[in-house]
Amino acid sequence: MRRSPMFATLLLIASCTSTTTTTPTVKTAEPSTTAAAAAPENPLLALWIGPYAGTPAFDKVKVADMKPAIEIAMAENLAEIDRIAKDPAAPTFANTIAALERTGRTLDRVTNIYGIWSSTMSSPDFQVVEREMAPKLAAFQDQVTQNEPLFKRIEAVYNSPEKAKLTPEEQRLAWVYYNNFVRSGARLDATAKTRLSEINQKLAGLYTQFSQNVLADETDLYVVLDAEGDLAGLPQSIRDNAAAAATSKNVPGKWVIANTRSSMDPFLTYSDRRDLREKAWRLFVNRGDNADAHDNNAIITEILQLRAERAQLLGYPTHAHWRVENTMAKTPQRTIELMEAVWKPAVARVHEEVADMQALANKEGANIKIEPWDYRYYAEKVRKARYDLDQNEVKPYLQLEKLREGMFWVAGELFGFKFTPLKDVTVYHPDVRVWEVTDRDTGRHIGVWYFDPYARPGKRSGAWMNAYRSQERFERDVPTIVSNNANFSKGKEGEPLLISWDDARTLFHEFGHALHGLSSNVNYPSLAGTAVVRDYVEFPSQLLEHWLSTPEVLQKFAVHYQTGAPIPQNLVERIERASKFNQGFITVEYLSSALVDMKLHLAGSKKIDPDAFERETLAELGMPAEIVMRHRTPQFLHVFSGDGYSAGYYSYLWSDVLTADAAEAFREGTGFYDRDVAKRLRDHVFSVGNTVDPADGYREFRGRDPKIDALMRKRGFAPATASK
Ligand SMILES: [Zn+2]
Repeated sequence: MRRSPMFATLLLIASCTSTTTTTPTVKTAEPSTTAAAAAPENPLLALWIGPYAGTPAFDKVKVADMKPAIEIAMAENLAEIDRIAKDPAAPTFANTIAALERTGRTLDRVTNIYGIWSSTMSSPDFQVVEREMAPKLAAFQDQVTQNEPLFKRIEAVYNSPEKAKLTPEEQRLAWVYYNNFVRSGARLDATAKTRLSEINQKLAGLYTQFSQNVLADETDLYVVLDAEGDLAGLPQSIRDNAAAAATSKNVPGKWVIANTRSSMDPFLTYSDRRDLREKAWRLFVNRGDNADAHDNNAIITEILQLRAERAQLLGYPTHAHWRVENTMAKTPQRTIELMEAVWKPAVARVHEEVADMQALANKEGANIKIEPWDYRYYAEKVRKARYDLDQNEVKPYLQLEKLREGMFWVAGELFGFKFTPLKDVTVYHPDVRVWEVTDRDTGRHIGVWYFDPYARPGKRSGAWMNAYRSQERFERDVPTIVSNNANFSKGKEGEPLLISWDDARTLFHEFGHALHGLSSNVNYPSLAGTAVVRDYVEFPSQLLEHWLSTPEVLQKFAVHYQTGAPIPQNLVERIERASKFNQGFITVEYLSSALVDMKLHLAGSKKIDPDAFERETLAELGMPAEIVMRHRTPQFLHVFSGDGYSAGYYSYLWSDVLTADAAEAFREGTGFYDRDVAKRLRDHVFSVGNTVDPADGYREFRGRDPKIDALMRKRGFAPATASK
């Protein structure tokens, strides 16, 4: 089987609350699979047909079809695997590894649709299906990795002297299979395997419950603003969104601030009403922590215990050791060393930021001590005072659709991609739009890009990229299908949607993941695109963020929504000058989450009270009282909605070391549109997927290993030395 159900994940941004999904996968290309032939009455089993090598028939999706489709597809996949395991011929790369790459195509299609519903269309009826199917998919996964004759064949290929004759990509694929199977318990005895599978099924159920609890608190709880006076300080766009939200929550004539980051952060930044800021802040940071039916604390304790037990079964001291082994960092200790190196200067910067805010509050006669619900509000005031930069002055130049065009333009300049809107493919929601991606020079088809930008009930908050289909070439050319998802408030019909600078950065970040998928040029689907280790996968996406602030993009695409005038140079300079502003806050709220994540998973089998653990760990770290973790434990979807980012939230910092260092490669050249550097980036980073070791790929691109100095310069934590 290919990439397993449990390991395929959505690619998120650190700043957003979103989650991994349990999307099974075992690849899709073609011909008449048995299930497609045998059960044409269930459209989910059908091949994806039509142009662009086929796209999902979203118009035919029914939630009621999901369970039977998954069950049929799992059975089909197991039969395929059984044939490989029982092949009388001696194991070879072709009859074992390549053969596995061919299997599971139906399940791949079905579970991709299921994953899209889980993250963007999670209706109550779907949630019932998800609660039932998550453990079954986990059990299926174990049935594959615990198939002894199959593992023996993989092991034989991996250890065979013949392996040396394979291409480097084939050798890497053999290693990926072997390593995944071993790490999933293929070598355990029967009793241990049974227990492992029980643990995985229990965990799958708990992850689903955890996610659905957070979604419930984000949907069912909100702040109602009753009167005009409650709106003090809020810009018109926030008032409009709050009025629209009130209508959808059935409190017409009032205003509602939803309990999601995209609604809360702007409210906390602009509301003059300190009492309401505190109320909103408390609601938001207590998601999953309200001692009610949606409380996640007991679930976390259980998840951590099961993970600890599983790690021990697999022969690792802790879950963190197991998770990190297979990454660039290799050991938890190295992740902690990096985090601690950045932690101290970041905390020192926070103390300076708080002092600046306190001074400003005192000067205004506010007579307060800065509290966590004041941070965004006063930071914004300091930004205005010190850099003469008002976010509201920037926003009229940041139109979602113009910036999307800007991203397309960047993709053209860097990689020669051209985007053309498609009308002839179906979508799962009317808000979704689709583009074909082709090579600008040759016209060759590259892939299809789906864009789902707006918030709606049943959609996870945050932003992410998802691959519906991986690129591959080992039997026939199969182009990729990728999507970008966000949660912008839709705004008023017919008016351009204006977004914040942070949102614009997120847009470019997720587009970076999409370009990583679209650039893929490999033979085997398991190695395609973003199927790289977690602490490397954020590097291409974070790097893409840099193109937003290039003068080329700003002058052409950051144009005023009413006058069409490009953003004034002087405003661009003020944005640039303010780029290191508030880095103490940004770094500490992120790093505290990353450190708590790692320490929770280094604690071993000790029974953990999440609340006490969080409090004690933060106290030991010297967490500034004015900041709360970006994701408190009871709502930490990255970590508790699946294994994907568990003991892995550090990955954003690890990748950012590469990102900052790589950005300097462009600056050392002729700038961000340097063709030679862009070509090296494409050849050694964006196109290679997991066919090479990421450290080797990076070295080929940069000519040396990454250095941490660039990161410290980027965040303004080191004396600004010779950064060009
Ligand atoms: Zn990301």
